Amino acid sequence: MGDSSYDYLFKVVLIGDSGVGKSNLLSRFTRNEFNLESKSTIGVEFATRSIQVEGKTIKAQIWDTAGQERYRAITSAYYRGAVGALLVYDIAKHATYVNVLRWLKELRDHADSNIVIMLVGNKSDLRHLRAVPTDEAKLFAQENGLSFIETSALDASNVESAFQTILTEIYKIVSQKQLEADPISSQRPGAGSTIEIAPSANDGGQNPSGKCC
Ligand code: GDP
Ligand code: MG
Repeated sequence: MGDSSYDYLFKVVLIGDSGVGKSNLLSRFTRNEFNLESKSTIGVEFATRSIQVEGKTIKAQIWDTAGQERYRAITSAYYRGAVGALLVYDIAKHATYVNVLRWLKELRDHADSNIVIMLVGNKSDLRHLRAVPTDEAKLFAQENGLSFIETSALDASNVESAFQTILTEIYKIVSQKQLEADPISSQRPGAGSTIEIAPSANDGGQNPSGKCC
């Protein structure tokens, strides 16, 4: 963290049943680490990493739960200001896929209605234990307007791609909105003032420049 040179700051939340690999997706993406032990509390609220999208620096602020999902006790502060959500299930545990419907409802109730949602089937390395067919999840995602990807936090496959894809999708929506709102100055080269789309860690949850999407 501590890097303040970025063009956009996007808050993305991780949701899904306990044990599906949310914390490990986060640690794989932000620190390239994986932990075999199941720890319900990692102790951080969020971690950040910056990536490049179409020549812009996007700082992703990715929020992880501290295990509250076990008790369905995620507060609305968790969702506040989020412009993206990775809804994670475990491809080897069918119940976690069934519960995706409950998580979609949770998003409908608590998050911005324009939040970009990506359905993530994690633990793709567990081929021999697969309980959710890829095609079924893909179809479900299509029908519900979600992007879809299968990942493995363990062997790192598609983890970069998952975050890159959702951040690019958010970027496209936000930059299009900017263009519509202010076509002249947003097209001027070098007019890239920093735009904060998510609340920063210590601003008490205020959203400085209004909501995205
Ligand atoms: P969370 O409760 O959703 O945050 O899940 P965790 O990240 O704590 O992971 C729960 C358990 O699943 C841990 O034992 C992890 O080591 C394991 N795990 C997480 N991701 C993967 C994965 O991609 N493949 C496999 N095989 N195990 C994983
Ligand atoms: Mg966790």
